[in-house]
Amino acid sequence: MDHLSLLNESQRQAVLHKEGAAMIIAGAGSGKTRVLTYRIAQLIDSGVDPFNILALTFTNKAAKEMRHRIEKVIGNNAKNIWMGTFHSVFSRILRAEADKLGYPKSFTIYDTDDSKTLIRNIVKELNLDDKLYKPNVVLGRISSAKNKLISVRQYLNDATIQADDEAAMRPKIGKIYELYQNRLFKAGSMDFDDLLFNTNVLFKEHPDALNKYQNMFHYVMVDEYQDTNYSQYLITRKLAAKNQNIVVVGDDAQSIYAFRGADIQNILNFERDYPDLQVFKLEQNYRSTKNIVHAANSVIKHNQAQLRKDVFTDNEEGTLIEVIKANSDNEEGKLVATTIFEDKMSNHLSYDDFAILYRTNAQSRAMEEALRRMNIKYKIIGGLSFYQRKEIKDLIAYLRLTVNPNDEQAFRRVINYPKRGIGDTTVQKLFVTASDINHSVWEVVQNATEFLGNRAGTAIESFSVMIRDFARIAQNSDAFEVAKHIAKHSGIVDDLYQDKTVEGLARYENIQELLNGIKEYVDDPEKEDKSLDAFLQDIALITDADTKADDDGEFVTLMTIHSAKGLEFPNVFIVGMEENLFPSQMMLNSRADLEEERRLFYVAITRAEKKLYLTYATSRYQWGNLRSCEKSRFIEEIDPKFINFKYGDSNSAGNVFDRVLQRKSNLVAPAPRKQVASNYTAPADFKPSDTANLAAGMKVEHPKFGFGVVAKMDTQGNSTKAIINFDEVGEKTLLLSFAKLKIH
Ligand code: ATP
Ligand code: MG
Repeated sequence: MDHLSLLNESQRQAVLHKEGAAMIIAGAGSGKTRVLTYRIAQLIDSGVDPFNILALTFTNKAAKEMRHRIEKVIGNNAKNIWMGTFHSVFSRILRAEADKLGYPKSFTIYDTDDSKTLIRNIVKELNLDDKLYKPNVVLGRISSAKNKLISVRQYLNDATIQADDEAAMRPKIGKIYELYQNRLFKAGSMDFDDLLFNTNVLFKEHPDALNKYQNMFHYVMVDEYQDTNYSQYLITRKLAAKNQNIVVVGDDAQSIYAFRGADIQNILNFERDYPDLQVFKLEQNYRSTKNIVHAANSVIKHNQAQLRKDVFTDNEEGTLIEVIKANSDNEEGKLVATTIFEDKMSNHLSYDDFAILYRTNAQSRAMEEALRRMNIKYKIIGGLSFYQRKEIKDLIAYLRLTVNPNDEQAFRRVINYPKRGIGDTTVQKLFVTASDINHSVWEVVQNATEFLGNRAGTAIESFSVMIRDFARIAQNSDAFEVAKHIAKHSGIVDDLYQDKTVEGLARYENIQELLNGIKEYVDDPEKEDKSLDAFLQDIALITDADTKADDDGEFVTLMTIHSAKGLEFPNVFIVGMEENLFPSQMMLNSRADLEEERRLFYVAITRAEKKLYLTYATSRYQWGNLRSCEKSRFIEEIDPKFINFKYGDSNSAGNVFDRVLQRKSNLVAPAPRKQVASNYTAPADFKPSDTANLAAGMKVEHPKFGFGVVAKMDTQGNSTKAIINFDEVGEKTLLLSFAKLKIH
């Protein structure tokens, strides 16, 4: 068997283990996933029918990779293995057995948005306060109940649960749970958690079905076992109850999903459930250099709660871990992007060799911008690019409406977000009326009561008053001030602030991050025009999809550390290594939380094969105020002998960035837009004129661009722009309320 020669002795034993329960709890990069893969190949080679093998992975990506690797060893037969995430495998089984549970075979699966809409409707029907009963919060409660297999009846009868909900001023969650389940059932639908919940119901109430799958799956395997929740634990235990052929692999030091109900207890339960359990230890890391492995060991040692493991490697010593300090998050982005570019060029690497990992999704903004500006292709795994995220699109829609109230897409997007009681039919009517009388929607909006009657009309008119108010402010303020005002007064910030779930918080952070980006734009001395309009034009260019990776081209991978579990990359950047960011401020209150956070750091470090960079910024914007940041305690926890401290400073970073941009423009075809500098210096007594009557043909003087002639005036909504041909720098479009112009 030649693939067995690609394993070390302990791995080989684990692979050759055939009957009975086994558990492999071993450190990162020690070949746990490889053992599962080869074990499956080995079973099939020895005559086991692939249909009799069930392999459960944590992500679809992991399942795909595993199947791919097995195919390499045994060919096409791999297609018939039951392999996938818990959700994908058991939705397939539920489809086959749906009638037993009273569901149609073609039941639909509600995604999170569908679930939230349903909850919102129920809250409305029950006349409950939708500020208290936020869909996300309610869904979070229901979801965690389902993952613990608490049915509606149990929920309503459990005194502790009821007391918790009462204390949180939400005593009706049980009632909502009941109606929610009824409605899903009547709609022939299941939500994500139902897929596991109902599988448990199926196996409990229909022994014939359980029996059938027990006989079918002779061999059950689970990767990343440390992150299974109770519901998943029970499913696998039931399936394996007959044959006892279950092999699980995991690493307690990498358990990072407690906040989603994952329970490390499942590892301990496992030992209790199978008295004949065989435990295999893998201690050799094949992924990373000595420096990385030792650094990771030195970090995880700080946790009290862990099973002691010695991880070693025979790999080369490798280079030291590079710690890079930046002055701001934008500079951090630039440093990461330039380091990637230079490293790729000087060592003939591919962009595929690099990954950037962060603690929170909002951090992708600074990274994405720096990569885009350098034309480096990238892909965000397990999430959307910053400007594609819903909350960002919502706020941007308000900003767009403010500068251009005729923007229909923006209008449709936010006319009823946050909720202001304007229904779809009303919006539809607006558009029909506009087309009937051949006017723009915005014009109909101004006189909405006339066209739509008092009730709907009033709500719409007050929306239009609000937008006009924003536009008025935009005339006399810079982009940041007006955007901050809009975020607050549109109701977006409030709406997100009340949602205290993990997702709600991430959305709130994203809004804050967008405002930070606008503040940095406004503070940038290079940006002449600080208006909202100019900012929107600027981001329209970077949000253009041109740096989105196509499927076959090479790209840098960006993702949260949570989604990086199980993956590996030659070069890894862990960014935002600052106190209150990583470790997250929310994880500092108890030892258990801090230890989970430290495990997350351990996961991050151990993704790197060759080279690891840790970067941090000494300042970051927070709601537009520059805050100073402290280096993360996690950096201090690494034994310093594995670290090389490299201090960036803003000048050198800027220079490197510019130098690389320059080099790049020589290398890649389309040269960046040339900025023509002006040699003009304004006289000391320069005084701007009143430009109320500025018109095409007039000669003007600008303190930075020098002399020019107005080519055209352009008034849109409340903002007037002058397009001016300057003698030295060519054509510029300036917003009149900001431009300092002297008329000659
Ligand atoms: P994680 O804890 O991060 O999920 P893991 O324990 O699942 O890691 P694998 O991903 O299976 O580790 O293996 C890490 C790397 O080491 C992979 O690139 C794998 O191919 C390689 N590897 C594992 N065992 C061996 C071996 N015996 N010889 C050579 N390479 C190996
Ligand atoms: Mg693995």
